[in-house]
Amino acid sequence: MSVVRVERVYKDYQLGEQTVQALHDITWSIEPGVFLAISGPSGSGKTTLLNLIGCIDKPTRGKIFINEEDISEKTPNELADLRAHSIGFIFQTFNLFPVLTAAENVEYPLLRRADISPEERKQRVAYFLDIVGLGKFAGHRPNQLSGGQRQRVAIARALAIKPSIVLADEPTANLDKATGREILSLMKQINRYLKTTFIFSTHDQKVIDRADRLVQMEDGYITAFGVRNEGERTWNLARIRTLPESDEE
Ligand code: ADP
Ligand code: MG
Repeated sequence: MSVVRVERVYKDYQLGEQTVQALHDITWSIEPGVFLAISGPSGSGKTTLLNLIGCIDKPTRGKIFINEEDISEKTPNELADLRAHSIGFIFQTFNLFPVLTAAENVEYPLLRRADISPEERKQRVAYFLDIVGLGKFAGHRPNQLSGGQRQRVAIARALAIKPSIVLADEPTANLDKATGREILSLMKQINRYLKTTFIFSTHDQKVIDRADRLVQMEDGYITAFGVRNEGERTWNLARIRTLPESDEE
């Protein structure tokens, strides 16, 4: 069974008269527990693809399956429900509520979950703040925390619903190198111990090298798939040529 399956997905944006083709014929799938990097330069379609998987936006053509359910057939309400149960988000700019404490930020996505009691909510908040090493900072507001600590709060918030997938859009791009590495290690540990599937985008080779699967993108096309050779830094890369030939070649 795959946790995410993307099947012949296209995404066009309409900008006035102009159509921007952000994704062309994207197909791949992953099993649960994978730590997948989507790599590619700025503008290659990474955010667009993550937003489609996260049910924030819809493909122009093609299908996306989450836990083998076709999300194109769901109503807005069903999609909101799917997100609330199955998908955690981590953003480049952390996106915490500035007026809420770390604990309240982590609690926030649990508030729309009628199946989770207030006691269980408190337990989860404490548990996940602890997992990201911020047990002592529960009462701090984002402006009292460093960038790395803010991203840790965001990770705890993403995990609090116990999602089957965490989507992280350039999670280290606003952090210094050392802090970025720490955040990646934390995500990797969570991936290993809680078996949470992570899909993260990046254009940083150091970050890519922490992944165990790779989807490489350029100009809205997939240019390669990679599987990391067990226990090594090297990749088994399958290059594919969906990029159109340029005129000069
Ligand atoms: P990345 O995250 O890899 O930088 P994006 O998915 O943000 O790439 O963008 C892919 C392409 O789609 C770019 O050409 C970008 O300008 C365009 N694009 C992204 N979002 C929109 C939008 N809301 N409206 C119009 N064009 C967009
Ligand atoms: Mg982006």
